[in-house]
Amino acid sequence: MTPAYVALGSNLGQPQHQLSKAVAALEMLPDTQLVRVSSIYRSAAVGPGTQPDYLNAVLLLTTNLSATVLLDAMHQIERAQGRVRDVHWGARTLDLDLLLYGNIEITSSTLTVPHPRLQQRNFVLYPLREISDTNLVMPDGSDLDTLLRQCPDDGLVRTDYRLLINQRTKSR
Ligand code: ATP
Ligand code: CA
Ligand code: CA
Repeated sequence: MTPAYVALGSNLGQPQHQLSKAVAALEMLPDTQLVRVSSIYRSAAVGPGTQPDYLNAVLLLTTNLSATVLLDAMHQIERAQGRVRDVHWGARTLDLDLLLYGNIEITSSTLTVPHPRLQQRNFVLYPLREISDTNLVMPDGSDLDTLLRQCPDDGLVRTDYRLLINQRTKSR
């Protein structure tokens, strides 16, 4: 099983509900276990125009799915929750990004892991730290605590909302 960290974000269509639904969907993926889910964070939208704030979270899965199959499944979940890809960085019901997949680097036309903008994003780094027992070391040797020190937390709010792990029975 490979540990995989996934970032969740939503700023449309009742974001808290969207995140809960996405957690449940990820939990139901075959050959995959949901291990841990962060708190929900609120952040100001980055992107064109005026957009509602985002709710963000990060979760840890262990999976036997390949990174490509996992990314496809994540896209399917986004589509099922009404994600429309029109404006780059536009408002969306659900965004699922694959942050880390084991300790490997992937560079293909459709998938870059670690996620290339992970280091600049407080709404990714803070929840990632919340759910890691130790200071995570990235495939390039950089470590999470150092990245956090270099990334201001301004504008990021840890909310009291909770995402639950259901531990539902699933067929493999
Ligand atoms: P950003 O990547 O800056 O967070 P975004 O999430 O808004 O922006 P999307 O429109 O959701 O970008 O995705 C664009 C493409 O990025 C996807 O079609 C996907 O193939 C590709 N992609 C590359 N690496 C990853 C990754 N690690 N996680 C998710 N998508 C990725
Ligand atoms: Ca994203
Ligand atoms: Ca994305």
